[in-house]
Amino acid sequence: MSNSEPAKTFRIGVTLEGGSLHAVAPIPPEMVLAWLSYVPAECGAAVQIAHDWGLFERGNERIDRLGACAHCAWSVALATSTTQRELVALNPASAAEHDALVRLHPRPFLYLDICRFLLKDIEEHGPDSGRFIQALTIATRHRPVVLLDTLCTEDSCDHDEKPQGCYADADTVACRECTISAGPWAGAYEGYVEVLVLAEDCPMLPAMAKAYGVKSPCAVCGESSRGDTELCNLHTPLQGNIEVRRGGGAS
Ligand SMILES: [Zn+2]
Ligand SMILES: [Zn+2]
Ligand SMILES: [Zn+2]
Ligand SMILES: [Zn+2]
Repeated sequence: MSNSEPAKTFRIGVTLEGGSLHAVAPIPPEMVLAWLSYVPAECGAAVQIAHDWGLFERGNERIDRLGACAHCAWSVALATSTTQRELVALNPASAAEHDALVRLHPRPFLYLDICRFLLKDIEEHGPDSGRFIQALTIATRHRPVVLLDTLCTEDSCDHDEKPQGCYADADTVACRECTISAGPWAGAYEGYVEVLVLAEDCPMLPAMAKAYGVKSPCAVCGESSRGDTELCNLHTPLQGNIEVRRGGGAS
């Protein structure tokens, strides 16, 4: 990107239902009425611009705290050449969350491998942005998320003394996109899990990895992995090493 180009900026858009924040490209002055009404966000959602909330960008405290619409976030990242920053933002927010993911999920960062693969494809073949944004959005939405106890989210737990904080006792990693959470109809119970889909049962990320031919680097040596595991041929344990127990069964 040349330095003489004016930097693209996006405003923050909110929908009537609340939820994640959306990005709105600059509005031409003749559309001044739009300042008072709904305008289309990058993802197509009808939003009102939150004029006092600053720009839609990582590092804006509201974006980081309230969450960004994945489609809007990737649209902005590609338009402003900040895809590496977006990748960093999609990493677990803390070491404790990272450790819990590694403890509870066999392949917790496949979504990042898929995103990196897609971004490399964009570098090599040029952006067919609609197609890539769709795939990046889906990979991001199906990433595994550690669920915390209600007591933790309400700040009435006693995890403060533990080094891993609330993640110390976490035992569930879900796919938020596949899981059904209670909507605004639930009042004070909005967000409570109605139908849980464990991240390991979500078929989307493995299906994407298979379709695109994404191979994560081997977790031990960094070489190309087999694809079905995060290990290369050398570091995948032999199937024959399983101990077979005989006898002891009632018959
Ligand atoms: Zn959006
Ligand atoms: Zn807690
Ligand atoms: Zn899913
Ligand atoms: Zn290896």
